[in-house]
Amino acid sequence: MCYILPMRKFPLNHDELTALAKKYPTPFYLYDEKAIRENIRYFKKAFSIFPEFREYFAVKACPNPYILKVLESEGCGGDCSSLPELMLCEKTNITGQRIMFTSNDTPAEEFVYAAKLGAILNFDDITHIDFAKEALGGTLPDTVCFRYNPGPLKEGGNAIIGKPEEAKYGLTREQMIEGYKKCKAYGVKHFGLHTMVASNELNPDFFVDTARIVFDLVVDVQKECGVNIEFVDLGGGVGIPYKPGQKSVDLDYVAQGIRKLYDQKIVPAGLDPLAICFECGRPITGPYGWLVTKAIHEKHIYREYIGCDASMADLMRPGMYGAYHEVTVSGKENAPLDHTYDVTGSLCENCDKFAVERKLPKIDMGDLLIIHDAGAHGRAMGFNYNGKLRAGELLLRTDGSVVQIRRRETIEDYFATLDFTGLKDF
Ligand SMILES: *Cc1c(COP(=O)(O)O)cnc(C)c1O
Repeated sequence: MCYILPMRKFPLNHDELTALAKKYPTPFYLYDEKAIRENIRYFKKAFSIFPEFREYFAVKACPNPYILKVLESEGCGGDCSSLPELMLCEKTNITGQRIMFTSNDTPAEEFVYAAKLGAILNFDDITHIDFAKEALGGTLPDTVCFRYNPGPLKEGGNAIIGKPEEAKYGLTREQMIEGYKKCKAYGVKHFGLHTMVASNELNPDFFVDTARIVFDLVVDVQKECGVNIEFVDLGGGVGIPYKPGQKSVDLDYVAQGIRKLYDQKIVPAGLDPLAICFECGRPITGPYGWLVTKAIHEKHIYREYIGCDASMADLMRPGMYGAYHEVTVSGKENAPLDHTYDVTGSLCENCDKFAVERKLPKIDMGDLLIIHDAGAHGRAMGFNYNGKLRAGELLLRTDGSVVQIRRRETIEDYFATLDFTGLKDF
C-alpha cells in the first residue's frame, strides 16, 4: 500500500486562480479540503493495525476553526498549548479527552480551563503536578500524561526543536517514575506517556526508534510504579518534503515498525491494548495549503529581485529558518526555468525572502506566485512587525466552491489595542 500521496499539486488552474484573485485580492492562503480529508484518512489507515489510534491535530499549525471542523469530522482530536487554542477546540466540538493539553510553562488558569473541558493534562514538569492540583482545588483529573525528555538517550534534533538534552521540554526518566508514583498516590486512575523529540523529520526509522524508547519506559513504569499506561503519544514532528526530490515519510513503514515493537514489548507485559497517539500538524495540513501572492515590483541590482504583495509577516519560515518552499508561477508551470530571482516581501529585514537565487520562469508584473506547502505553521506564525497586515484564508470545498474562512487583517485590527483618544491631553 502506498501512503505517499501525490496531492501537492495546486488545485486551481490559471483561469480559476485569476478569477479567485479578482474576488479576493492577494495575498491569501488557500487550503484544499478534499486533499486534507484524503490525507488524514490515509494517515489513520496506516495506523489502523493498532487496537486504538488517535490523532490530536496540533492546533498551532493551522488554528482556523473551519479547518479544525474538517478534521473533527474525520475523527481527529486537538493538541493545544494555550487558552485560545483550547477555546478553538471547544468552539469546534472538540472537547473532553479529544483534547491533549500539551503545554509548557503553563499558567494556572489554563490548567483550570483545560480540566473544565475534560482535556487530558499532559504535564511538562514534575512540579506541575502540585501546581495543577492546587489550581484545581486539590483534585487532579482521572487521567494525566507526562511528557518525557529522553535527553542524551535519543540522538537527533535539528534547528527547529534542538537536541533533546538542550530542549526545555519534559521530565527526566527519574522524574517520570516519581511523577507516576505521586499521581497514583493522589488518586489518578488513568495514565499516558508522551514524548516529542523531532521536528520536520523525514527519516521513518526515527519514529520507530522513538517508539522503542517510549515502550521500554512504559514497561519500566509498570514494574517500578505499578502503573499500567493506557496510551502513548508520540508527538508530532513527522516531516513533509518541502524540497523537490525529498520523500514523504512512509507512514505504513512507521506503523508496521512500531507494531513489531508493540508485539515484542507491550503485549508480553500484558499492556495490550495500548492506544497509539500522534499530535501531528505539519503532515496533516502542510502540503494542502498555499500562499498566493502577486508580483508587484521587479528590481535589477546585483541580483534580480521580484517583490511580492505578501511578506515574511504572512509566512515566516523562510526568513526565520531559511526554510525552503517551492514557488511556482500560475500559468507558467511549463515555462523554462531560465531566470534566477530572489523573491522578496516588503519587510525592512533582508531575510524577508520567499526564495533565494531560485530558478524560475520569467516573471511579469501582476503574475500570481504560488508558495507551496504553507498549510501548517504558515499563516499561524504570522505577525505584525513593520505594520504588516496578515493575509486571510480561503478554503476550497470538496464541491469546488471557495469560502473565505478568515478575512484579511485591516488597519482597524492593527490599531485595536490602541486608544488614540488619550493622545489629546497627553
Ligand atoms: C508543534 C507541536 C506539534 C506539532 O508538530 P508538527 O511538526 O506540526 O507535526 C505537536 N506537539 C507539540 C507538543 C508541539 O509543540
